[in-house]
Amino acid sequence: MWQLIILIAVILLVYITSRLTGNKRIESTTNKIEIVKCCVCDLNTPSSESIRKGEYWFCSEDCVVKNDI
Ligand SMILES: [Zn+2]
Repeated sequence: MWQLIILIAVILLVYITSRLTGNKRIESTTNKIEIVKCCVCDLNTPSSESIRKGEYWFCSEDCVVKNDI
């Protein structure tokens, strides 16, 4: 009986630690990425995937063209 309880305890411990380390990984990646808002369609995108024109950010080339019109 004790063996079963120890087994469940070990499984729970591994599950909890894996969840904790997983959350830390997500936090460290989100801290590096800056989210910017497209000034045409108000879509929030990472700055690495966005296009900057002066002080304005665009989510895609389509929005750059729309802003010029
Ligand atoms: Zn856009």
